Amino acid sequence: MDIVLISIVILVMIILVIAFLVSKQKSTVIVAQPLPGNLSEILLQQVEFYQQLDASRKLVFESRVQRFLAAVRITGVNTTVEDLDRVLVAASAIIPIFAFPDWEYMNLHEVLIYPDSFNDTFQQQGSDRDTLGVVGTGAYQNIMILSQHELRQGFLNKTGKSNTAIHEFIHLVDKTDGATDGIPEVIMSNAYIIPWLELVRKNIEAIRESESDINPYAATNQAEFFAVVSEYFFERPDLLRSKHPQLYELLVKIFRQQPPDPEI
Ligand SMILES: [Zn+2]
Repeated sequence: MDIVLISIVILVMIILVIAFLVSKQKSTVIVAQPLPGNLSEILLQQVEFYQQLDASRKLVFESRVQRFLAAVRITGVNTTVEDLDRVLVAASAIIPIFAFPDWEYMNLHEVLIYPDSFNDTFQQQGSDRDTLGVVGTGAYQNIMILSQHELRQGFLNKTGKSNTAIHEFIHLVDKTDGATDGIPEVIMSNAYIIPWLELVRKNIEAIRESESDINPYAATNQAEFFAVVSEYFFERPDLLRSKHPQLYELLVKIFRQQPPDPEI
């Protein structure tokens, strides 16, 4: 066989191997579920944070929502997950880290949607169902569970200071450094840690003495304090700024954003 023919055969084999590897690589890119066609419409109707953004930042928000939905599976358990739920979960994930353009929730693979509250062992029956959202550990590592009713309620209530889905994503942000301790070291500059802990201490004391409008659940521990006041920060930035200016200013520095003020 002449050398030209051998070279051609080798070349063709190399091309075939490369084509095979490329096609294999492509097939491992998982798009979890098709994206909602009415994405921007749902955001506009339901998500106040998005409504307040200018046109170019709205586009950025939409693409971040799409990226999240392509990476994280959202599964209904004894309920049907609608586009509305998927968009609200993604919006809750993006709002806290909107100022961090490269942020990925590496510690989250799936969000399970339960119809309503559940108990400590994730049972949906019985009288001890007082949990509305949780970041899983152990066998539930990389999984978040949310109550569908509460997920929707968090966005429907325009005057409240709470939003369960945002609360759980704040725990995930906090957990990124390995410890859910109310000190989100991955996003928080070291210089703010001592002033932050001092504010946490003072505010938990005020809550325990019933001298605060912050949800008493925040006094459970530092991690819950961080999650609860962050909900307050993103849901009612205007109110937090007037009632707790020091907390507000530090949260602006931690999250590197001033949440758009809802006009109520
Ligand atoms: Zn919590």
